[in-house]
Amino acid sequence: MSEFANAMEVFKLLDKSNCRKCNEQTCLAFASKVFLGEKPLDQCPVLGKKVLEQYKGKQKKKMTNEAYRESMLTDLKNEIKFCDLEYAAQRVGGVFSKGKLTIRIFGKQFSIDSSGNMFSDIHINPWIAAPVLGYILHCKGVPLTGKWVPLRELKGGREKNGLFVQRSEKSFKQIADRYTHLFEDLIFIFNGEKVKNHYESDIALVLYPLPKVPLLICYWKPEDGMESDLHLFFDSSADMNANIDIVYGIAAGIVVMFEKISMKHGVAL
Ligand code: SF4
Repeated sequence: MSEFANAMEVFKLLDKSNCRKCNEQTCLAFASKVFLGEKPLDQCPVLGKKVLEQYKGKQKKKMTNEAYRESMLTDLKNEIKFCDLEYAAQRVGGVFSKGKLTIRIFGKQFSIDSSGNMFSDIHINPWIAAPVLGYILHCKGVPLTGKWVPLRELKGGREKNGLFVQRSEKSFKQIADRYTHLFEDLIFIFNGEKVKNHYESDIALVLYPLPKVPLLICYWKPEDGMESDLHLFFDSSADMNANIDIVYGIAAGIVVMFEKISMKHGVAL
């Protein structure tokens, strides 16, 4: 049986009394949640067994984050099949040779062919792979400005900023507080470049997760009873060389990668 095509299809089954026994304000709100797979149909106690039995197979399954990433990756790989990789090489700061586009991710080679097959010296998890493919598809090839800005100053960044601070900056700070070799590893394993005097931070280094989307990490050590702090900055051209979802995704991907590395090193987060 095919899934519900829209929320109205669910709504038509309800008695429209807005009785709130399902903990939703209205029947329409409940119908929307059922359609999105966020609530099962049987949470409306007013519906009879016969209806529930009849429409059981139409309920959408809620995707896990992992499944969502995988499906996004599949869509991006399909889009890559229609992308001129030779032309893209000029935009994205890469080279095209023998049917493959090669760019540097954290200074390491990453190649992709026109079927969407990826080849790299580093482990590419879906958190990193999706923004990389998005970058190849959407990068405009604008030169770097050298001006560092927080995410909220990029186009569309204000809407994503709350989540970005929670999921990327605060998580990264937590890793930096406990994983004492973090910055050395960022330099030696991920080709980070130490830079000076950025916002008077104790440590400032630049990573190149994508050739035209560098990331500046500034860390302030704890001092005199004050907590440590960490902020991430992007070149002001980042919203042209990658849209805000790609920029947000690459920062989130780095954090996931370092959470895994730090746990491997026995650092409890
Ligand atoms: S319990 Fe059913 S009838 Fe009552 S508000 Fe929710 S969906 Fe509507």
